[in-house]
Amino acid sequence: MDDATTKRVGEIRVRVEAATFGPWSWFGTPKEPILATTTGGKVFVIKPHRSGLNGATFWWRGGAKGYPRMIKTEECAIKEREYRNDLERIDHPDAEFIAHSRTDIPFLLEQVDALEAELKAFRDEQLERCENGNCDSTDSIYHEGCDGMFCIHGYCQDCGSHLIPETVTEGAA
Ligand SMILES: [Zn+2]
Ligand SMILES: [Zn+2]
Repeated sequence: MDDATTKRVGEIRVRVEAATFGPWSWFGTPKEPILATTTGGKVFVIKPHRSGLNGATFWWRGGAKGYPRMIKTEECAIKEREYRNDLERIDHPDAEFIAHSRTDIPFLLEQVDALEAELKAFRDEQLERCENGNCDSTDSIYHEGCDGMFCIHGYCQDCGSHLIPETVTEGAA
């Protein structure tokens, strides 16, 4: 991973660690949906709250950042301009985690793909060496299919088949 990737992964890690512990699930009713933890006593993460006559807002989990109880969005809202009401962001670890997840997760999946491709290339390179008789491994694994032996890299010296599937990404159901 390059520096930018390492930095971004670090930022995601901080967001994950700051957010309320999981797993999370929806509870409540259609008119009052509540996002809460499924373990640890159903801790409320987001709870809707009536605001004025026609409005509604969220309450966020308390206990974070020294807030002892559930806190209203107004209390952790960062406005674009002090004199206007438009939100820039919500200064709560769960709000940050949720908003970033839409880009954080695709980014992490990209890293998984890149690392898998790198691993596959590395394995293919080694298997090629084994196929060409340049295997330096002395350990071996029994191959029931041909009654022969795989080298530690997964190449069968007896029948030429590979122990490791050609594509590791396929087969994910
Ligand atoms: Zn080998
Ligand atoms: Zn074999």
